[in-house]
Amino acid sequence: MRYREALAEGTAALEKAGIETARLDAWYLLEHVCHITRQYFYLNDTDELKEEEQQEYELAIGKRAERVPLQYIIGEQEFMGLTFKVNPSVLIPRQDTEILVEEILKICKPDARVLDLCTGSGCIIISMVRNLPNIEAYGGDISRQAINAAKENAKLNQTAVIFERSNLYEAFSGKFDVIVSNPPYIPSAEIPNLMPEVRDFEPHQALDGLEDGLYFYRKIIAGSVEYLNEDGILCLEIGCEQASAVTEMMKHFGFKDITVVQDLAGLDRVVRGHL
Ligand code: GLN
Repeated sequence: MRYREALAEGTAALEKAGIETARLDAWYLLEHVCHITRQYFYLNDTDELKEEEQQEYELAIGKRAERVPLQYIIGEQEFMGLTFKVNPSVLIPRQDTEILVEEILKICKPDARVLDLCTGSGCIIISMVRNLPNIEAYGGDISRQAINAAKENAKLNQTAVIFERSNLYEAFSGKFDVIVSNPPYIPSAEIPNLMPEVRDFEPHQALDGLEDGLYFYRKIIAGSVEYLNEDGILCLEIGCEQASAVTEMMKHFGFKDITVVQDLAGLDRVVRGHL
C-alpha cells in the first residue's frame, strides 16, 4: 500500500468511527508508524509502506477507531515545548495545565524548594525545572506506575526531580516554598458524561475528585499550612466552576492575595495565593 492510500483508508476508517479529526489523526499515526515528516510525505506519497509498517498502521487506526486517545497510541504528548512519555497509567498532559506552569514560573524564586502533588506524568514539575534549573524539585503521586512514568520523563528531559510514591504529603518532610498541584477534580457523578477517550481510557484515579470534585483541594489546602514556609505559595489548577469554593477554602486557612487566573478560553483555571 502507498502512503497516500494508507492516509485515505485510515481517514475513511476513522470518519466511519465518528472521529472528528479523522484525517489529522490518520496523518499522525502514519507519521508515527513510518517515521516520515509531512514534507517527505508530499514529495514521496506514492512510496510503499513496508509490510510491518502497514500492519502496525492498521492496528493503530483500529485502536483509534475504538477511541483510544492518539497520545496513548503514539506514546507521547508535547507540553511546554517538551516531550512527555504517556501510558494509560497517567493523565495525558493538557494544554490548559500550561497556564498553571506559566503562572507559577512568574512568581517562583529561582532557588525555591517546590513540591508537585498528584504529579502523574511529571509534566508540571519537570517543565518547571527546565525553566528554573536551580529549584529543589519534588513530585509525588499515589500511583506507583505514575511515579515510574514521571521518573522516565525526568530522565528524558534531563531534569533532576525527586519523585516519591505518596498519598498526598505522606512521604514528604520539611517545608516548601511552593506547592503546586493539578489534582483530580471531576465530581464522580460527572465521570460517565466525559468524552469516551477520557472516560474509557484515562485513569479514573487521576480524574475523580470524589462527590463534589473538591476532595483533593480540601486535603491539599489543609495540609499545605503545615508544609509551606512562611510566605509560601500554593498554586492549584481547578475546574472552571470551582474558583469560589477553592478561594474560600484558601481564605479559611489564612492564604492572602488569592488570585484566580483564566485559561485561553476565558474559563477560571488556576487559583494561587500565599501564606
Ligand atoms: N499533574 C499531572 C498533569 O497535570 C496529572 C494530573 C492528575 O493526574 N490529576 O497532567
